[in-house]
Amino acid sequence: MPNHTIADILRGLEAKTFSSEEITQQYLNAINKHDSNYNSFITVTAEQALAQARAADAARQNGSAGTLCGVPIAHKDIFCTEGVRTSCASKMLDNFIAPYNATVVERLATAGVVTLGKTNLDEFAMGSSNETSFYGPVRNPWNTDCVPGGSSGGSAAAIAAGLTPAATGTDTGGSIRQPAALCGLTGLKPTYGRVSRYGMIAFASSLDQGGPMAKTAEDNALLLQAMAGFDHRDSTSMDLTVPDYRAGLNKDLSGLKIGVPKEYFSEGLDPEIASAIEASLDEYRKMGAEIKSISLPHTHLAVPCYYIIAPAEASANLSRFDGVRYGYRCENPKDLDDLYCRSRAEGFGEEVKRRILIGTYALSSGFYDAYYRKAQQIRRLIKQDFDEAFKSVDIIAGPTTPNPAFALGEKVSDPLTMYLEDIYTIAVNLAGLPAISLPAGFTKGKPIGLQLIGRDFDEITLLAAAHQYQQRSDWHQQAAPGSV
Ligand code: GLN
Repeated sequence: MPNHTIADILRGLEAKTFSSEEITQQYLNAINKHDSNYNSFITVTAEQALAQARAADAARQNGSAGTLCGVPIAHKDIFCTEGVRTSCASKMLDNFIAPYNATVVERLATAGVVTLGKTNLDEFAMGSSNETSFYGPVRNPWNTDCVPGGSSGGSAAAIAAGLTPAATGTDTGGSIRQPAALCGLTGLKPTYGRVSRYGMIAFASSLDQGGPMAKTAEDNALLLQAMAGFDHRDSTSMDLTVPDYRAGLNKDLSGLKIGVPKEYFSEGLDPEIASAIEASLDEYRKMGAEIKSISLPHTHLAVPCYYIIAPAEASANLSRFDGVRYGYRCENPKDLDDLYCRSRAEGFGEEVKRRILIGTYALSSGFYDAYYRKAQQIRRLIKQDFDEAFKSVDIIAGPTTPNPAFALGEKVSDPLTMYLEDIYTIAVNLAGLPAISLPAGFTKGKPIGLQLIGRDFDEITLLAAAHQYQQRSDWHQQAAPGSV
């Protein structure tokens, strides 16, 4: 099972090699048997999955199958799922049963997927290691002493362990790409506005974007096809036609201009990652691409800028968790103030509180101009760097992360070191651009991710570039030692 892709499963279902019920049962058994090694699922929806699988088998029989009919996947537990606990890995939402489905969940259901369950994450998606979850850390199937990355670490570990062929993720500053890199997967952060945020619990609304995680670029294309498109319930959703991503996978890439930012090969980058990225660029040269050195001069400001904007938005978004309407409420509150204070003090974990404090401080009247306004100005400069670069190149390539998967506990007590984990991914969110991470080698048995960044709404070129590289390499086909 470990190398089963969505494309393989669709072929098997079409050829009647197995039914959706059979393959769903196999994945449920695998989760049951092996997830105690990884802690990648918060909730497993076995009965519901089997009912969906039987319905998918019936739909396939009577010719009403959607594009992903009968394919099992998992959802990051940040997407609202009707009737199923949606916890965001927080004590605050441990008892929250979502009354409706996120648009992403609904669209994938319409395409016919079977939902195995909800995957673990950093609390409210704040983190890069999946260690801030109320439900405990997730382990990396490539090395169980290491983190899987975050915040979509449960999704990444579940796929790498062979417990699901694919999953959804969200990416506010790197949370799809970084765990994909650390777990040897392919993960796409779509352009801001391409995939609806409706029903996706908000962290930093101007940065959050849902997207697919799977083994291959082809599977990412299949998932994105079902997820993308205008949604009137998300006011930042873009009303643009969604191209046929799978048909675009083989688009001619000769003459593709790939820019390589010199700032992405800075001090702090693991030398083995640097050489793996160089080697993948050589492959692109052989494929007829032209590699150019470029500069994104404001790169060094991306992390500090993000750590004002994201906490500021988080402090506003998380004010809704007040112990009154839903979620955790403290015992025996003395009065309303006590109810607010203790519900929030007891319901949120440390990292979430740190972000709320930073964000509230940055937005307070005496400091707004010095921090928040300044960060917005820097955000514009970062976007302009990309605009300038895309005048002369079609995509931008570099490492996804400065280092491979690190040990559990290694960075969790040092937030600044942890924040630098996203040094190559964060600018993309600030600029709203699409980017993909794909496997490009190994160092000491741990996967390395290559990041490709595209122009606004040009996911198709990224998917094609990733797919064609995967036709010439087998990094994405390697199975983690612990996988089923
Ligand atoms: N690691 C970053 C953070 O902690 C990004 C998280 C994300 O993309 N959700 O904010």
